[in-house]
Amino acid sequence: MDYNTEIIESIAQQLAEMLKQAVKAQQMTGQKTQPIAQIEADMREVMRQIGNQALGMLLSSMQTTPASEISCKCGGILHYQRMREATVISVFGKTSYKRAYYAGCTCQKGKAPLDEQFGLEPGKVTAGLAKLLALAGIEFSYDKSPRWLESYLLFDVSENTVRSETEQMGEIQTQCEEKLIAKSQDEAFLQQRQRNPGYVPSRMYGSLDAAKVRIEPRCKKGEEKKAHEDWRDMKVLCWYEVESVSPAQRSTRQRQKVVREQPALRAKNMRYFCDIIEADGFGKLLWASGCTLNADLSAELVFLGDGAVWIWNLVNQYYPDAVQIVDWYHAEEHLEIVAAEAFTCLSERATWLEQVTQTLWEGQVEEVILACQHLPASCTAARQAATYFTNNSERMRYDRFRAAGYMIGSGTVESGCKQIVTQRLKLPGAQWEVSGAVHTAKARAAWLSVDWKSLCDQRSTLPLAV
Ligand SMILES: [Zn+2]
Repeated sequence: MDYNTEIIESIAQQLAEMLKQAVKAQQMTGQKTQPIAQIEADMREVMRQIGNQALGMLLSSMQTTPASEISCKCGGILHYQRMREATVISVFGKTSYKRAYYAGCTCQKGKAPLDEQFGLEPGKVTAGLAKLLALAGIEFSYDKSPRWLESYLLFDVSENTVRSETEQMGEIQTQCEEKLIAKSQDEAFLQQRQRNPGYVPSRMYGSLDAAKVRIEPRCKKGEEKKAHEDWRDMKVLCWYEVESVSPAQRSTRQRQKVVREQPALRAKNMRYFCDIIEADGFGKLLWASGCTLNADLSAELVFLGDGAVWIWNLVNQYYPDAVQIVDWYHAEEHLEIVAAEAFTCLSERATWLEQVTQTLWEGQVEEVILACQHLPASCTAARQAATYFTNNSERMRYDRFRAAGYMIGSGTVESGCKQIVTQRLKLPGAQWEVSGAVHTAKARAAWLSVDWKSLCDQRSTLPLAV
């Protein structure tokens, strides 16, 4: 939108003059000149009030001369009643406006066409404010969000409003995913996509992981505390592509990797998906999200994960031709656990670990298994590790994977689990019911992906409940 700079200038002059008078009046009473912070705060508050009134005036002015009758959704007729005031909570606070109100249909429902035209729901938060509330809610615990928001918005919003707006974003994301799933099972859509796929990445990565979330239903007032508390797995999927990093941009960790002969790689175009759901259900999302990104059509598809059986079962089921890699850091960690249990002497421990890690790095998994089996039978970790390496041996040919230039550490999706689960769902004061945890996590996943804007656009065009 283009704005008339002359009008802006004239409003600014009036505003400056008004605040100048206020500052002068204060000086007259002997008070010192206001520091800039106070002037800024005053000016913001005045601008918020101006915005609030202007928005109300604008909405009221959009009301055209009302027709005496309009048709109702039910097929009946609605009759014009009167101009009626409504209030919404916008980015400027509680904003009131007047619009034509219709009623008198046999279905008993009333209607204000202006509300529908602008996507307004009286008594509710506007789409513009909803976006900001959800941004706070995906970043801070719900009890801390209002305080944070107040500094930015200059008015109070309740914890429950932040919660419901954030969770609503997650609900919209859930609906989008359900549509994707339905589409990905539609033969006609799949054939059409095959003929005209659009962008197909040449090498695509998928990483899968899971993290525990504590579920503890909130008690309603007067209700006895429900005893059961439960830990549920939040499954997280990340799709991404990889680019190489120029030496100057490399982080310390990447520099260490380079020492290990690995070209420095960085994930890009990350898309996160998550849910608390059984593997079967998550598989549908894995397939559907992969369809929209043409993962299955890419020349090379690489999956990274830890040793969890559900991960590789899903990959085998939906992407049987994909390269399967056990994330290097998970594999390495197993050796560290074995070393810690098997050796009390620190230098012996370090020597063993260094050798066996190098062997694993070279993809000699059979040698690694033998090294574990040669440790005393009393070492439980060694026996478990031997089984783990045996079951995943083909996913640990790190020499070959490195030669092919694959990223072998799933740091990307691990940080997805960290960013979604640890950094939000495990915040102090967080208490979750399953649906709240899932919707908050899905909203956060969209924010971390490139999908946030399209999610907000959908929030703006929500079909309104009449
Ligand atoms: Zn009706």
